Amino acid sequence: MKKILYTLALAVTLWSCKTGSTSGKSNIVGVNINLVDVKDDKVLVTVTPPKIKTDEIIYSIPKTVPGTYSTDNYGKYSEDFKAFDVKGNALTVKRLDDNSWSISNAKALAKITYLVNDTFDTEKGTGFGNDDVFSPAGTNIKAGVNFMVNTHGFVGYFKDNLEVPYKVTITHPETLWGATSMTDEDASNTSDIFTTSRYAVLVENPIMYSKPDYTTFNVNGMDILIAVYSPTGKYTAESITPEMKTMMTAQKNFLGKVNATKKYTVLLYLSSMAKDDAHGFGALEHPTATTVVLPESMPKEKLVESMKDVVSHEFFHIVTPLTIHSKEIQYFDYNAPQMSEHLWMYEGVTEYFANLFQINQGLIDEAEFYTRIADKIEQAKSLDDTMSFTVMSKNVLEQPYKDQYLNVYQKGALIGMCIDIIIREKSNGEKGILDLMHKLSSEYGIEKPFNDDELFAKITSLTYPEVGEFLNKYVKGTTPIPYDFYLAKVGVTKAREKKAGPIFLKGQTPYITIDKQTKEIAVRSDIEPNEFFKNLNLKGGDKILAVNNKAYSLENIYDLITESETWKENDPITLKVKRGTKEETIKGTVKLPFEETETFKATDASKDKLKNAWLKG
Ligand SMILES: [Zn+2]
Repeated sequence: MKKILYTLALAVTLWSCKTGSTSGKSNIVGVNINLVDVKDDKVLVTVTPPKIKTDEIIYSIPKTVPGTYSTDNYGKYSEDFKAFDVKGNALTVKRLDDNSWSISNAKALAKITYLVNDTFDTEKGTGFGNDDVFSPAGTNIKAGVNFMVNTHGFVGYFKDNLEVPYKVTITHPETLWGATSMTDEDASNTSDIFTTSRYAVLVENPIMYSKPDYTTFNVNGMDILIAVYSPTGKYTAESITPEMKTMMTAQKNFLGKVNATKKYTVLLYLSSMAKDDAHGFGALEHPTATTVVLPESMPKEKLVESMKDVVSHEFFHIVTPLTIHSKEIQYFDYNAPQMSEHLWMYEGVTEYFANLFQINQGLIDEAEFYTRIADKIEQAKSLDDTMSFTVMSKNVLEQPYKDQYLNVYQKGALIGMCIDIIIREKSNGEKGILDLMHKLSSEYGIEKPFNDDELFAKITSLTYPEVGEFLNKYVKGTTPIPYDFYLAKVGVTKAREKKAGPIFLKGQTPYITIDKQTKEIAVRSDIEPNEFFKNLNLKGGDKILAVNNKAYSLENIYDLITESETWKENDPITLKVKRGTKEETIKGTVKLPFEETETFKATDASKDKLKNAWLKG
């Protein structure tokens, strides 16, 4: 998974004025999802059980799914749960909790039905630390327009029947097309049939139904499908395909032999950011797919940039945890999940690769790579640097560990970097952490998990004692990592640089607000203005009515902020403002708020060979 801290998503609170199925009792689970007759924003799901031999059976929808590391209770979006025998008589049903129902006289059970509500409607969009279902793992029901079928939100499982095959029939409007890595076994334009060998495979295969907008291409033997839902039609699959192709080719080149996936699907859902639309931005990984949710208002440059970071991260999850993982993940319990100790690897090393491959394959330069490392160090500082990473990982569903989860993308990635540097140093530049991951993937694999408590010893035996010492002291232990010490090994030291910050936000605090009565955008008077405001002589209380001849108000304030991210120093700018009751036009230039920030620089030429092996090897 990758969660993105999209500044808008945080700022938003400030201005949000607040049918029949498969037959018989064969040993499969038959499911019908009806996307045609949507009533009150709810979808009818009909399930035919496999042969039940007990008097009572429990049907459950997941409490959590792999990769999210959070408790989401997908069952709470289901209601009106009914069970019937073959003659259509109702059987007694008892709801056990948010996610489970117990059915009596289960030997007579012929089918169950229930209505599913979507999660996108309920997201509050206050950024992190809320209990929303993360949008890329969530569901969307917008009749006739878009259905985000994250299968675990619609389909559950019968207790002790997780290994039974599934046959899922989805009836859908003819105008909508289902994008997925699964193969539709039905020629009809209004129904799709997907079969999977077991429940877990179904959960790993999301489907997005929308007006067909997709591209396909092949990268080194892998078929890639990119499907896009853009509510206003601002973006198409075609418009982002060249960048995706360049990036995924680079990823395949970087990864080498690890990956054997034949088909890979990218499902991109662009949110309008309206109150009843998705607000959790980022993506969730699957072995042959990823679901991505981003705001449609992002300018093209930003969207492509985010897609690069997010999709590459999800794609590298093929290495870990999708190939290399512990028993907790292999034998995942959807309603009583056990967490593994090794988020530093699943999320951290993955995030490190998503940055390293970009410099390795020439998509970014050295300065950009160091800026990213410095950002991660800076962001890790705001989290608990003395919490054991393995303890946090094991207990990530509970507080106080839950709030530290975000550190997997920061400190987790930096752990990956330090291990990479140690291995480079010890092997005279010959090997790095990617070689270690290759070795681990041949040692373990998709069907061969490791024991959580044996991983450090295994890694040490495959590398050097120094790697083992690092893992014990800084990953299991509570000692903060001295990053300067490790970066010095490759001749890299601290430096300062001037960097332009966002115009309308200081950290997470906006410089602008909304006039509750008029819905106009107002300059705040309770915050010291930055260079941009001072240079244009904007005063607290001024209403910004238009910028460069485009009108703005509460309705499209997101557009203003996202567009401002593309403004360059000294660009000409024209504002229409209202001061008191008087409207006036201000013509001037853009002055960006520059701040001095920390970064890194290669300063020791004697280490160049090792540094180049690290970044370009
Ligand atoms: Zn991830």
